[in-house]
Amino acid sequence: MKITDLPVEGYERVIEASDPVTGLHAFIAVHNTTLGPSLGGLRVWKYADREAALWDVLRLARGMTYKSAVAATGLGGGKAVIIMPPHGKTPELYRAMGRVIDALGGTYITAEDVGTSIADLEEVRKTTKHVTGLSRESGGSGNPSPYTARGVFLGIKASLKAVYGNDSTAGRHVAIKGAGAVARTLIDLLVAEGARVTVCDVAEAPLVMVTSKHPEVTVVPPAAIFDVDCDVFSPCALGAILDDATIPRLRAKIVAGAANNQLKEPRHADMLAARGILYAPDYVINAGGIINISCETGPGGYSEARSLAKIARIPEALTEIYAIAARDGVTTAVAADRLAEAILAKAKSGKTMSAAT
Ligand code: NAD
Repeated sequence: MKITDLPVEGYERVIEASDPVTGLHAFIAVHNTTLGPSLGGLRVWKYADREAALWDVLRLARGMTYKSAVAATGLGGGKAVIIMPPHGKTPELYRAMGRVIDALGGTYITAEDVGTSIADLEEVRKTTKHVTGLSRESGGSGNPSPYTARGVFLGIKASLKAVYGNDSTAGRHVAIKGAGAVARTLIDLLVAEGARVTVCDVAEAPLVMVTSKHPEVTVVPPAAIFDVDCDVFSPCALGAILDDATIPRLRAKIVAGAANNQLKEPRHADMLAARGILYAPDYVINAGGIINISCETGPGGYSEARSLAKIARIPEALTEIYAIAARDGVTTAVAADRLAEAILAKAKSGKTMSAAT
């Protein structure tokens, strides 16, 4: 195994690891540990080349710092990526990755991500203890989706309050793109409070799961979801769906959903604002999952009560962001970054002061 440090400005540590025995070629980026050890998922992807993998790990690690700062998880931001070997994923590959993670001595803690399942994480766990998001049976916090959904539901309520002065979803119409794991719990919560729900999916099975439980939910084809006359448009499928073509079609007053990286480009936040649509920054409203995972690292191990109490503060973070946006005349996306940067700067100056005394 060869581990090389790569100096990257603005990052505490970036390493490249290669192991000819298992075919491992991986990067780990520790972006910032001011607030605690860095946590971020382990992505396995068919990257075009080394540079594409490095670019991705840097971008994602930085995003985790911001997400954890606003969500007050007590963690920093990091990420790991493995370039998919030609022979595909193997248990040996994940065990080798565990050894690389272990070499960082706990400054990076890994978790599930695109390309890595819970079963894969169990392999990583064999060679390092710095793994989160394992099943409840293995002492982990289990499936994060219901917690992400709860945070999105509360975030929708905070956004309704900001726009209409009332946070109830009763009688409000929510159009949801995607009927996956997060969306289905979100629909349960919305229907229970009396909201009207329209949903779409590219697959039939998740829609059947929704309509068999909630026959009152309306299903539309995926191409029609952007045109639904509703109060809230909730992206809960893939990212990069808010762009030049879709934003002009939206008939909602609020965009608030679980998907990561919803804006195709940063300027699309300006486009939403210009149309008078309130955008709940994705990494703030979808933080329920990372909050739940972070509650594994507290004293005494995982606590659901601590997780739910922290998730209940997502509305406060969004309300603060909406206030910053109004005060500074910036988009809510910029305001979220400003809040994260202020939290980090405050923690850093606190650390510097306590080190000096
Ligand atoms: P999932 O895979 O269970 O569900 C996604 C659903 O979207 C699937 O049913 C899929 O068929 C559907 N879909 C894909 N392309 C579509 C399209 N073009 N139009 C309509 N539907 C489409 O995923 P999930 O766990 O529910 O996560 C949903 C989103 O939230 C993802 O972007 C994920 O990255 C993000 N997210 C999830 C969590 C979590 O805890 N699961 C946490 C943070 C963010």
